[in-house]
Amino acid sequence: MYDKLILIDMDMVIADFNDGFHRAWVEKFPDREVIPLSKRKDFYLTKDYGNVFKSDIVNILHSEGFFLGLSPLNGALEGFAALKKRYKEVRICTTPLRNAHSSYEKWMWVANNLSEEDASNMILCRDKTLIMADYLIDDKPNIEGLKTPVWKHIIFTQPYNIEIEGTHFQWGDNLEFD
Ligand SMILES: [Mg+2]
Repeated sequence: MYDKLILIDMDMVIADFNDGFHRAWVEKFPDREVIPLSKRKDFYLTKDYGNVFKSDIVNILHSEGFFLGLSPLNGALEGFAALKKRYKEVRICTTPLRNAHSSYEKWMWVANNLSEEDASNMILCRDKTLIMADYLIDDKPNIEGLKTPVWKHIIFTQPYNIEIEGTHFQWGDNLEFD
């Protein structure tokens, strides 16, 4: 018997999506402005950078190797291990991009950086409201879908969601949720 089932998002909670994007952006467009994470105001890169750059942003995110090349977020691997120790049942729950390699790369990333067991157990889905669990730790401010979620959303704190009301969490924080 387990205590609680925790879903945990991948990008900007475990994997440093923002850093991966910035590295690719600077390499491809060295003359363009880079918005540091601390200055990000919106969850979506296109909102912060502007729609004029949308196709360049999308091309980077969809490029092969993008997800596989991400670094773990600071403190995430240790934090994930601590969470698993406390709750036993912890599942990565992530939305792949609409292309053939994104799901594969996310699976491989989890196998390489966490464990094959975590990769086998991970949930790849577009609509997280369809998944039953006690908590979802996710940096996305508003998570909507077909259902009213049964889980409680714990906002993984990032500069672009700091103003959002709710229960916030970062690696290193107390793991007792209520
Ligand atoms: Mg995320």
